[in-house]
Amino acid sequence: MSEQPVLIIGAGIAGLSIAYELQKLQVPYLVLEAADHSGGVMHSFRENGFELDAGANTIAATPEVLTFFRELGLDGDILEASAASKHRFLVRNNQLHGVSPHPFKIMASDYLSRGSKWRLFTERFRKAAPVEGEESVTDFVSRRFNKEIADYVFDPVLSGIYAGHPDRMSIGEVLPALPRWEQEYGSVTKGLMKNKTAMGGRKIISFKGGNQVLTNRLTQLLTTPVRFNCAITAISSSNNGYLVNAVENGVSASFTAAKVVITTPAYRTADIISSLDTTTAALLREVPYPRMGVLHLGFDVAALPQPLEGFGFLVPHAENKHFLGAICNSAIFPEKAPAGKILFTVFLGGARQEQLFDQLSPEVWQQQVIKEITEILHLTAPPVMQRFSTWPKAIPQLNVGHAKLRGAVDNFEKQYPGISIQGNYMRGVAIPALLQNAATFAASLTKN
Ligand SMILES: Cc1cc2nc3c(=O)[nH]c(=O)nc-3n(C[C@H](O)[C@H](O)[C@H](O)COP(=O)(O)OP(=O)(O)OC[C@H]3O[C@@H](n4cnc5c(N)ncnc54)[C@H](O)[C@@H]3O)c2cc1C
Repeated sequence: MSEQPVLIIGAGIAGLSIAYELQKLQVPYLVLEAADHSGGVMHSFRENGFELDAGANTIAATPEVLTFFRELGLDGDILEASAASKHRFLVRNNQLHGVSPHPFKIMASDYLSRGSKWRLFTERFRKAAPVEGEESVTDFVSRRFNKEIADYVFDPVLSGIYAGHPDRMSIGEVLPALPRWEQEYGSVTKGLMKNKTAMGGRKIISFKGGNQVLTNRLTQLLTTPVRFNCAITAISSSNNGYLVNAVENGVSASFTAAKVVITTPAYRTADIISSLDTTTAALLREVPYPRMGVLHLGFDVAALPQPLEGFGFLVPHAENKHFLGAICNSAIFPEKAPAGKILFTVFLGGARQEQLFDQLSPEVWQQQVIKEITEILHLTAPPVMQRFSTWPKAIPQLNVGHAKLRGAVDNFEKQYPGISIQGNYMRGVAIPALLQNAATFAASLTKN
């Protein structure tokens, strides 16, 4: 009898890339997906000539990830970010402040108070604290720098990556280099200087036609077709491995496998494993996935008196706006908007502003955001294209307490050998992290 395939639950970028890597290693696999399409939270579409992504808009690709995209035959579809997109902005007092990608060049700008610049400059002389469990981003940054730097630099940066709340997020999970540098070099700024070159080398890219091109291509390259409309409901132990129950096209189905890879969001993984381990399932259910809104706005070029030559802008929570930040897609990738138009993707909600979903109607919320963006950018005309998408459960929040989940998942995997939990809440939320994990994880499966 031929080798049993590795069952992979979920056809988002995590599941698809693991399947593709197994295919390269000639390991049989089968991907089971609840929806009628692949991609998960990667979702691209067109509107009046604008190319829109409701999920990931940009990919910070390492050289290895770029090589992988070429291997997929996507060379001709890669869009590289313009040179101008190196500039990034933060909003304070309704004004855009240019900040260098190197956070310490912020010293030269008037974005922070003199007191904060002094705290930044003198951080290297501050004694490292002994490691004592998990620390929140706000606590860590306030300790090494001060509260203003936590509120005006780290808060918007975390909004931009996780739509997260710095009082809750674990520094060791979301910015692990910082506590590591404190321990290794005695200082975050010293660590940053020593690791400057190691941190470079990434290219910001997107794909022509939207980032779903990537998941579509992986789906197409899999020689074992993805089984769509197949929602996994439970896993139980069986004589020769595991019995995986599903509802496929409305009908009960089951699969047996020795190896099962789960890439579903934490709250779904909880349902799937709950009959095996209620404790780990309960911890998985606790991972917050705040609601998010994504507002695409297109304008005539003439509506923007001064072109925004940059990636976009992030808004500190303390500025009391109704959005987290905006990417200027057409400044990064001119191909994303038709000639004579500009495109912004604005992010709303997240851990900081989720309550606005209950307080405002979508129409009122969008109008308020457009008013605020108009003030910041001095726009002279309303949008010519407006499209609002919502994610009821968007990005997993790696909050203080996540270490407990990691420990529980490790123990679960030891207790049930052959089952692996590979969701983005375990392996990294950014697409390059998931792709790199897929290669190492697939190789590890061939060894046992
Ligand atoms: C709004 C937004 C913006 C983002 N921006 C960026 C960005 O700019 N750059 C970046 O690198 N990353 C970004 N990310 C993060 C990145 O897109 C995600 O971390 C990544 O796509 C998640 O992929 P995944 O495969 O782990 O999960 P998912 O995409 O969630 O895929 C999981 C799959 O499992 C399926 N599934 C669920 N339950 C079952 C079941 N019971 N049985 C079978 N299948 C099931 C789902 O239908 C889904 O297809 C963003 C995310 C969001 C939401």
